[in-house]
Amino acid sequence: MAADRLERPAPFTSEDYRARSRRVVDSAAAQGLSGVLISPGPDLVWLTGYRPTAVTERLTLLVLSQDREPTLVVPTLERHDAERAEGVKKIQVTDWADATDPYRAVAPLLRPDGTYGISDSTWALHLLGLQDSLPKSRYRSLTKALPMMRAVKGPDELARLASAGAAADETYRAVLEVPFAGRQETDVAADLAALLRRFGHEQVDFTVVGSGPNGANPHHEAGDRVIREGDAVVLDFGGLKDGYGSDTTRTVCVGEPTAEIRDVHEIVRQAQQAGVDAVRPGATCQDVDRAARAVIREAGYGEAFIHRTGHGIGVTTHEPPYIVEGEGQPLVPGMCFSVEPGIYLEGRFGVRIEDIVTVTGSGVARLNNTQHGLGIVA
Ligand code: ZN
Ligand code: ZN
Ligand code: ZN
Repeated sequence: MAADRLERPAPFTSEDYRARSRRVVDSAAAQGLSGVLISPGPDLVWLTGYRPTAVTERLTLLVLSQDREPTLVVPTLERHDAERAEGVKKIQVTDWADATDPYRAVAPLLRPDGTYGISDSTWALHLLGLQDSLPKSRYRSLTKALPMMRAVKGPDELARLASAGAAADETYRAVLEVPFAGRQETDVAADLAALLRRFGHEQVDFTVVGSGPNGANPHHEAGDRVIREGDAVVLDFGGLKDGYGSDTTRTVCVGEPTAEIRDVHEIVRQAQQAGVDAVRPGATCQDVDRAARAVIREAGYGEAFIHRTGHGIGVTTHEPPYIVEGEGQPLVPGMCFSVEPGIYLEGRFGVRIEDIVTVTGSGVARLNNTQHGLGIVA
């Protein structure tokens, strides 16, 4: 792994970012939008590489439209930092000073009666300010208007996601060697975080260690519970490597598992496999959810699978598309998302298995490839 850690992918160029902007402007036009307005957050990172260090009440907004060159509106004091981002270097930048009205800086860039897609991370404060300064303008949720904007990954993005997945896999193999029994969940969580960093992650987003009854709460992170012999332990961890996300879950047992833990684990393993097997171009997001869910329901645990089957991943660890009943979005080669069914038995234990997969030209490839069987730890 040492060589792998040192090899960094070539950074995205300003031309890469421009190509993304052009794609967004074209799809916005096809949706009848006058343009899109992007606030700090994953959309802005994807379109420019710009990640303001502090997001405050001061307006930062990227304006993309067919009428004009991409323009980033920033507070005067942020201008210098913004211009250093690769995707900002070759676009127009306008700034507004404290004690002036930021919405008046944006207004001349917009059509007074236009309809704009606006990123979901835009503060209500700013949306209301825009509506005040251009009363005839209208706004639509960008995620609803352009759900595919970041969902289909290019080859350079897929390479990063595969590398992040491989680093998460190394983390799992290594954590099987650490002691569990007699240590707190937070101790194992700290091991997971250190391993993710050792294998190349620059950011750790979550390190879930759900032992025994805590595993039955899918959003339990890690607490002071002391892990015991016989516990099932849900391990769900991930973060960013070279700007792209990892997210994998395995469930292990401390010592010899009971027959029930084995059985429940095997049902989840089969459900996860069925979900992955349902992934192919033209199938829909909900087809994948249904395939995984059917296995768990038929085994009699339908009520115990209390969340959607998965979520997209890219410059963030949770993003569209969502693998959920009601999501009819067809799968397209290049999409990346998790397949992560689980069974949660309140007060007792939980089991979840999660891989990131990508849709290929003919089917599916997993970006996580550690063993799916019940891991045994000491
Ligand atoms: Zn996860
Ligand atoms: Zn996940
Ligand atoms: Zn999650």
